[in-house]
Amino acid sequence: MTRHIAVVGAGVAGVGVADACRDTPVEVTLYDKASGISGRAATRRKHGCRYDHGANYIKPGEDAWVDDLLAELGSDGLADIELPVWTHDADGTIAEGRGDEGPKWTYTEGITQFAKRVRKRAGATVHTETRIESIAHEDDGEWTLTDTDGESHGPFDAVVLTPPAPQTADLLAATDWDDERLDRLHVAVDAVAFRTIRTVLLHYPFELERPWYALVDPDRAHPVGWLSREECKPGHVPDGQSLLVVQMAPDWSVERYDEPLDSAADVVAELVADLLDDARLTDPDWVDDQGWRYALPDSSIDAADARCAEDAGLFVAGDWVAGEGRVHLAFENGRTVGERILGHE
Ligand SMILES: Cc1cc2nc3c(=O)[nH]c(=O)nc-3n(C[C@H](O)[C@H](O)[C@H](O)COP(=O)(O)OP(=O)(O)OC[C@H]3O[C@@H](n4cnc5c(N)ncnc54)[C@H](O)[C@@H]3O)c2cc1C
Repeated sequence: MTRHIAVVGAGVAGVGVADACRDTPVEVTLYDKASGISGRAATRRKHGCRYDHGANYIKPGEDAWVDDLLAELGSDGLADIELPVWTHDADGTIAEGRGDEGPKWTYTEGITQFAKRVRKRAGATVHTETRIESIAHEDDGEWTLTDTDGESHGPFDAVVLTPPAPQTADLLAATDWDDERLDRLHVAVDAVAFRTIRTVLLHYPFELERPWYALVDPDRAHPVGWLSREECKPGHVPDGQSLLVVQMAPDWSVERYDEPLDSAADVVAELVADLLDDARLTDPDWVDDQGWRYALPDSSIDAADARCAEDAGLFVAGDWVAGEGRVHLAFENGRTVGERILGHE
């Protein structure tokens, strides 16, 4: 008998659930408030450039399965960023290497390709621009979802919540289910901390020659937390141009989250010009930004708490369940949840 599963969030964790359930009697329907899929592993196009303004790349680390998966999804357009990541400190001193060499994968068409390819092979139904507002557990044990237009979806045999923990906590607060497992799950999800990052993009009509792809501040003491050169990704920036992706430190980002882009970008460009010791960088020819209110998890949820409502069909998945803000870990977490739904784990 076909079972129907709803997944709130079509980021990499959400498509991971769908991937686990492909070619099985479990039918997965994904809902996302955004106009596309892939969540924080995001890509945008502007002025002839393509840029990943959330996650920068997929880094397999020790996990060989990631390389295998990427090969299965198709190597056309798969691109390794060859130049290394260096570091900078609170004083702006730049130093070579941070000891994590190895492939840094993205796609010529942008990092969203990962989720798009997974979703395509999973064949799951996706409803975009559908923000789920509340959830109800019906008397017969099934689940229904209601979106912000008041439309009801379901019934479903199970529901998986994958938004960042604070947004999942809001959904749990709006869940109609008189059961102590809901309270336990809600308290545990609500306790997961997320940090904020405002990403500012600075474009220049000239090339920037540097021996590194990116700089990261491992001490988190400089207002610039991360700075990378999008032109190091094949197919993203036309020759002779430079596009800097600047992820500001959490304190800076919270303080200036709502500051208009033009004035925030002026400040960022000054900081970048100073850090890279290049006065030309104070004057980008166009800028863009993205505020990530819930960018990366600073803590995670206890595994037993995360699973406490699973026998009633209520699941959570995502990077904050996996324990670290990484594309491949969020995907793997979603896939593992999917396997548990199938009863394969
Ligand atoms: C600035 C930045 C840089 C990063 N750099 C890297 C990196 O270089 N490498 C790396 O591996 N990882 C990086 N990460 C982390 C990586 O992006 C995340 O760990 C991963 O994408 C999380 O996937 P997810 O599916 O768990 O969550 P998400 O991608 O957040 O997906 C959740 C989805 O839920 C949707 N949603 C939320 N609420 C609702 C609702 N009520 N109804 C419907 N839909 C809803 C959202 O629109 C979203 O699409 C970075 C993240 C950020 C923000």
